Amino acid sequence: MKTNVRALVIGGGAIGTSVAYHLARAGWDDVMLLERDELTSGSTWHAAGLLPLYNMSYAVSHIHDYSVKFYKTLEDETGLNAGFSVVGNLRMARTQDRMDEYMVYASTAETVGVHYEWMTPAQIKESWPLVNTEDLKGAIYHPEDGYINPADLTMAMAKGARQRGVTIERKWQADAFDWKGDHWDVTCTKMVEKGGNLVPGDEQVVISAEHVVTASGNHAQRTARLLGIKSAAIPVEHQFIVTDADPALVAYRKDNPEHPVLRDADAKWYVREERGGWILGPYELNAPARFEYGVPDTFRADLFPLDLERIEEEYMSMIHRIPSTEEVGLKDDYNGPICYTPDGNPLVGPAPGLRNMWLAEGFSFGITAAGGTGYYLAQMMVEGEAEIDMASLDPKRFGGWITTEYSARKSEEAYEHVYILHHPDEEREKCRPLRTAPSYDRLKARGAQFGCVNGFERPNYFGPLDAPDSFDHDARSFRRGGWWDYAVDEAKAVREGVGLLDASAFTKHRVTGPGATAFLDWFTCNKLPKVGRINLTYALTPQGTTRTEYTIVRLAEDEYYLVSSGALTDYDGDFLRKCAEDKAGEFGYIAVENVTTQYGVFAIAGPKSRDVLKEVIKDAEPETALSNKRFPWLSARQIELGMCPVNAIRVAYTGELGWELHHPIEMQNYLFDLLEAAGEKHGMKLVGARAQNWLRQEKSYRAFGHELGRDATPLEADLPRFVDLSKEFQGKAAMEEVGVRTKCCTLLIDGPEDADPWGVEALYHGDDRVGRLTSGGYSVHFGKSIGMGYVRPDLAEPGTRLKIRMFDQLWGAEVVVDSPYDPGNETIRKDG
Ligand SMILES: Cc1cc2nc3c(=O)[nH]c(=O)nc-3n(C[C@H](O)[C@H](O)[C@H](O)COP(=O)(O)OP(=O)(O)OC[C@H]3O[C@@H](n4cnc5c(N)ncnc54)[C@H](O)[C@@H]3O)c2cc1C
Repeated sequence: MKTNVRALVIGGGAIGTSVAYHLARAGWDDVMLLERDELTSGSTWHAAGLLPLYNMSYAVSHIHDYSVKFYKTLEDETGLNAGFSVVGNLRMARTQDRMDEYMVYASTAETVGVHYEWMTPAQIKESWPLVNTEDLKGAIYHPEDGYINPADLTMAMAKGARQRGVTIERKWQADAFDWKGDHWDVTCTKMVEKGGNLVPGDEQVVISAEHVVTASGNHAQRTARLLGIKSAAIPVEHQFIVTDADPALVAYRKDNPEHPVLRDADAKWYVREERGGWILGPYELNAPARFEYGVPDTFRADLFPLDLERIEEEYMSMIHRIPSTEEVGLKDDYNGPICYTPDGNPLVGPAPGLRNMWLAEGFSFGITAAGGTGYYLAQMMVEGEAEIDMASLDPKRFGGWITTEYSARKSEEAYEHVYILHHPDEEREKCRPLRTAPSYDRLKARGAQFGCVNGFERPNYFGPLDAPDSFDHDARSFRRGGWWDYAVDEAKAVREGVGLLDASAFTKHRVTGPGATAFLDWFTCNKLPKVGRINLTYALTPQGTTRTEYTIVRLAEDEYYLVSSGALTDYDGDFLRKCAEDKAGEFGYIAVENVTTQYGVFAIAGPKSRDVLKEVIKDAEPETALSNKRFPWLSARQIELGMCPVNAIRVAYTGELGWELHHPIEMQNYLFDLLEAAGEKHGMKLVGARAQNWLRQEKSYRAFGHELGRDATPLEADLPRFVDLSKEFQGKAAMEEVGVRTKCCTLLIDGPEDADPWGVEALYHGDDRVGRLTSGGYSVHFGKSIGMGYVRPDLAEPGTRLKIRMFDQLWGAEVVVDSPYDPGNETIRKDG
């Protein structure tokens, strides 16, 4: 057995096998795959093999699209037929809301290049007469997907991998991981049969591997413990049942091709043909999490007992939809573990805190995702980055605060939500509130309807004071929801008066030490600010795209306070810390401290914000303390508001005169009461994240995870003013080399009367698709929809007329100047 490899992949399910295959295909010739039992003996063997292209996420849609195309090529390459039945996939809708969901999804599909068609109930009936269409509104149809045999697929990928030089070792379990500075020593134990169980034997080897990928499926929690990290992946029970042959189906099939896979999303199930009968796969309520603390030795390629009662409702609704199934008996059942994560997406990317350790865990649609995951993860490992931004799947999007209990309950919720309407303004309820700033109760009492950012409660908008618990749930929509008017009032308050926002969820790091200045100068692309000043800047990937956006405050010569997106604290912290470690030898000691939960943040913004602060600032000359002379725009000052010491930063993400007030979190309620009382006579309004999101688009402020990410450089984001080309910085050469392939712009949109774009829509120039939106919303200033997105560079010029597809129609849109509201920044810089 080889004991020295470039990459060791752990787990011989669909995922691990695809990763090994794609690493070899990307040019790594020394790859080994280790499987503790037999290939496919985890969840892979009992999967139903459906390959749904339908997915609301841009990254996951790319992954699924790649898989479906790749699987069609496998037989030619390996000679093995993976049993891909391209029967199509019909996703039915019973309500207009569901059709709206499909139309919002179709925007993502279109931008990825996934083909879809619309069908009316009459067309469905004509094509597939066994389907009861009387209560349907319509359907979306994917002609190019279908289902595959998961075991045959895995074997075909394994053969392809072997043909490309991959070594596959079965009955070896990875048991310990030891980082040696430039490689991992992985202790592996020979697994032996004992009374039907698979148990560790006496034989052990240590394999040295430059890179390790874990694709351990249901064993993700054990793997995480061995690595000393936390993993959000926990399996949940998932069942499907197989019926006897249905005579009506058998008769229909004499003259007709196979039925497409049917999905009745409102009834929470899929159905496909299986040897003259049907497979029914429900996503029912109350499916329990399993193996929170590990998979027992006794559980191998095993199943749980069927729980028919739990899926009775879905069973009955299958009979409603396909009446011929009423007389058909049950032949077989499967109830197996299927891995989930709190948001339902897998964990793909570098492991937190570790070097050369890659995770590919937590797959609930692992058969569909295997091909694309292997492809994009191999790109990340071999080339340094994938061609799409994989941040939304990065394992570190779940912070170090997660626990087993949290992951288990949220994974159960994600399972239940597979077919619940995927409103873009949805906020899932489980495990909340969990992370709250001290002012949470006060804000709630004033009508706050909270969203969840990295587990942190943050007001989305302020609704009625006497709102029932279901208010936000009922306010959701694919169009303008019941919250829209509240957000409009809040946005107006900031533009015309003064608003107060809770931004405590921001990620905050302190970077200090003798090497801090030289390090940050290399780490970020803009000039470093002078002491007391701030700068907006970007840390780039070595490939020149945007890894993180920072507001940097220089507190002292060698002391910096970095503020970044609240959603990705560990994602940002991990990169910052690893880069600082790497560069300490060159630049000197650099201390990086995550102070996110030490400081709360209130943002006060609007033409009257200075008047409110003047009432409470303690200063020898309170009248001038906040003037342009003493506190200019883009500077930071230590001020005192009443008895609260505040690190005040003169910036406002809303684009109005304003300050961010970073304060000791334990004084938050004191500060809130003080500001609220002072704000009363100025009509200060509490404002949530939704209004803020609209306001920042009027100023063309790019948002991380939308306009800013690992698929575009800051020059493509059209931010040359924040890039100092006269200095050297990480990713500079690569950024310059790729040039401007696509360019960010802001658009004002003449959309439908009852809807705004969500930031996923395709953009057209004539009949050509030329780009996509990455943000969308409503502009109170212009009284119409607004969005930001990427288009061909020649079309990013102000005045260019484009079209945007929303709800299956094309609407007019015009590229406008950057910062269409107050382009000269007059209001932000106003003196007083
Ligand atoms: C009933 C059911 C139906 C499903 N239907 C579908 C479907 O229609 N479409 C779809 O896309 N998905 C479906 N799924 C989900 C799909 O089965 C999984 O997402 C997929 O199999 C996950 O693959 P994997 O490689 O991540 O995990 P697994 O297949 O579980 O493979 C992980 C492997 O790692 C090995 N391993 C673990 N730890 C170690 C170690 N320390 N050393 C060595 N080896 C180790 C295990 O033995 C195992 O073989 C279904 C799941 C269920 C339960």
